[in-house]
Amino acid sequence: MIGLISATAAGAVAAQRLASAWPERTRVYEGPVRDAVGRAFGECEQVVCFLATGAVVRLIAPLLGDKGTDPGVVCVDEAGRFAVSLVGGHAGGANALAVEVGEVLGAEPVVTTATDAVGVPGLDTLGMPVEGDVAGVSRALLDGENVELDLEIPWPLPALPPNVRRPAPDATTERGGPAIVVTDRVPAGGRVSGPEETLGADRAGRTEETLTAGRPRGAGEPLGALPHRGAGDARVVLRPPSLVVGVGASRGAPTDEVLGLIESALHDAGLSPRSLAELATVDAKADEPGLVEAAARLGVPLVTHSAEELAAVEVPNPSDAPLAAVGTPSVAEAAALVGGGELLVPKRKSERADGKPAMATCAVVRRPARGRLAVVGLGPGARDLLTPRAKAELRRASVLVGLDQYVDQIRDLLRPGTRILESGLGAEEERARTAVAEARRGQAVALIGSGDAGVYAMASPALAEASDDIDVIGVPGVTAALAAAALLGAPLGHDHVSISLSDLHTPWEVIERRVRAAAEADIVVTFYNPRSRGRDWQLPKALAILAGHREPTTPVGVVRNASRPDGSHRLTTLAALDPATVDMMTVVTVGNTATREIAGRMVTPRGYRWQENPEGAE
Ligand code: SAH
Repeated sequence: MIGLISATAAGAVAAQRLASAWPERTRVYEGPVRDAVGRAFGECEQVVCFLATGAVVRLIAPLLGDKGTDPGVVCVDEAGRFAVSLVGGHAGGANALAVEVGEVLGAEPVVTTATDAVGVPGLDTLGMPVEGDVAGVSRALLDGENVELDLEIPWPLPALPPNVRRPAPDATTERGGPAIVVTDRVPAGGRVSGPEETLGADRAGRTEETLTAGRPRGAGEPLGALPHRGAGDARVVLRPPSLVVGVGASRGAPTDEVLGLIESALHDAGLSPRSLAELATVDAKADEPGLVEAAARLGVPLVTHSAEELAAVEVPNPSDAPLAAVGTPSVAEAAALVGGGELLVPKRKSERADGKPAMATCAVVRRPARGRLAVVGLGPGARDLLTPRAKAELRRASVLVGLDQYVDQIRDLLRPGTRILESGLGAEEERARTAVAEARRGQAVALIGSGDAGVYAMASPALAEASDDIDVIGVPGVTAALAAAALLGAPLGHDHVSISLSDLHTPWEVIERRVRAAAEADIVVTFYNPRSRGRDWQLPKALAILAGHREPTTPVGVVRNASRPDGSHRLTTLAALDPATVDMMTVVTVGNTATREIAGRMVTPRGYRWQENPEGAE
């Protein structure tokens, strides 16, 4: 819930605008301001104050506790010009809220946390739990100091700045200095997590100190050493979701027994519960309350597999009991191993204080790291037609693959340190292969294309190469046909089709057959790749086929460089279009027999009924 507090009439009006924009998310606090702030601070995850920053600082100062648990606070000035993220920028979400509030009120978001201001990813915004000296390592990152990246597990991280380096694999000398360690292990010889850490603790990327009440606040504690490192060096540990715990349970197994088993299995193996990705079991146990509740308390999904699938998995410790009960010789080990990976803890049983038979079994597997391939459409050109999701994926990537001219379109959005693999026109197959190969190496890759990356673009060659050992995330983009249509009017109001006239990879007979089918079916057609220097007869030929079924006066829209600085568009007709005015930067949209030019715009009616019923007597 977001608490809204104002003191003046102007503030109250602005607060009301937010309240009506987000009725479900907001609550207006009335009454004396000091009292309202106090209540909101205690009750809300976030607070927006329509007050001067100075006033808010004084009001909240006595209430501030820990940056991991305090609400995020945003201040909006009297004139509504600025939305200032005051405290709780990362963990409290105030930076993101300042941006959102800015969008609703037309205010400029003001974000002053250093990592956001300079494009370095906040270590606590990398999407995984982080422990240790976040402030110390962030400072080192910003100061350009050498920061060592110890990727014990090759997890796909976003780009880190160039001063973050991986040590040479054969480096045997003592290392020191600030470091980022990516591991699911609790290092030997030191404790990453204290005894206070219990299963079910918050996994939302909060820092160690926020999980453990009663500890000194501020910078994290020394983490206990990786053997070769001095104790004084700033160090953070990132916990990738790398562990799968397979669980079996008899009917009625108590939640505490299941949780206790998992906790001791992880603890004895020196593994961090914060790296837990999921619990896995057999379908028949999908509703077993002890498992459902354990997963909920751990904050991870309970994933189930069929008995047949589990029976097919080779395991070290099969047994007859589950075979009789649920039809597979192994539940815990098989469910943990379904997706492959390394068995770190073989099947073990719960221990019961009363000496009765164990009701739960578990096994722990480290799943293979999966690279990440985001296939991102950049839209037709204009920055504001690039979706926020596309932007987020570009910043999520550590490797960017694309055509050089598209890379130029978004270069400024990339995080410093992003590895850019650009190539020229014609290298599609190579780009696709490179992107997939990088993802298979465990990288976070963004493969970009203009418009929508799946429309006559990179998604198909890339996914034709990709195996199921990587995650693929598609981000749609505004394709040229849609960008053009918006400029022309409403040409796509009824059935429409896109046809590429490039016969480089498609035989002309196939293209011609499709144009003919569209002509006969009276479908609006947008031609992509309509004409290039070496390909000039295809467009006239295609238009002639359409003209065989449509009037010479049929509207045709010609849009060049839609949404780009030198863009242009015009309306003509099938008879009047001069193909010489069309090039590779252009799409050509031909109306159907109902399409009309109305007030200079191309309009395709949504239905044909008016044609059958020309009197319009509906
Ligand atoms: N993936 C792209 C299409 C790639 S094919 C998309 O979804 O838009 C390349 C063709 O797309 C060009 O020859 C041209 O016909 C068309 N095109 C791409 N961007 C365009 C733009 N901004 N304006 C007009 N046509 C464009």
